[in-house]
Amino acid sequence: MTRIIDLAHPLEEGMQVYPGDPVFCCRSAANIPEHGYNVRSLSLGSHTGTHVDAPFHFFADGKTIDHFPLSTFVGPALVVDVSSKKSREKIVWDDLAPYQTAMGEGVILLVCTGWSDYWGRPEYFEHPYLARDAAQKIVATGVRIVGIDALSPDETHLDDSEGDWGAHETILGAGGIIAENLRNLGSILGKTATVSLAPLHISGSDGAPTRAFAICE
Ligand SMILES: [Zn+2]
Repeated sequence: MTRIIDLAHPLEEGMQVYPGDPVFCCRSAANIPEHGYNVRSLSLGSHTGTHVDAPFHFFADGKTIDHFPLSTFVGPALVVDVSSKKSREKIVWDDLAPYQTAMGEGVILLVCTGWSDYWGRPEYFEHPYLARDAAQKIVATGVRIVGIDALSPDETHLDDSEGDWGAHETILGAGGIIAENLRNLGSILGKTATVSLAPLHISGSDGAPTRAFAICE
């Protein structure tokens, strides 16, 4: 039986965003009593909620979202289980090496930290993160799409000046795509699944929200 699993958080006012990013607003622009219909006005950042990053996020000459064919964002999932990792713990290559033979071009690598359980709570910012060296080895296998059920594949600091962007620089630097704030990765762990991370088609954008989902056999 085919099952569809929702990998995206809902967009709603008051939701968590990356420190310093624009907040999500969804307000009434027209309403039934006055206008005869409802219309909402939306305001958000390009990295709000479950979303993908394109190389232009970190590289001035990098590709924007609209320069990737839709097929880039759809493919077989390889979920790696690193849910034993603690707050701000590094995910190193040794954690991922058991999955190496399944990694390769066209595979969508999904890093299951289990951190989506903390969505909406202060602990959400304290997620584990990918070591630069681990990201380099992932890219060396041919993988170009990496998703995570946390705020970022790099450590999140409240002050950007402290940041090390090893995973972003490595994956986006290889012309790849990163998906952030995924959820329900535990539900597809060990299963054969096709994943869609297809983002909104926003011209010239460094990132865009996605209603990510998996289709499980
Ligand atoms: Zn992002």
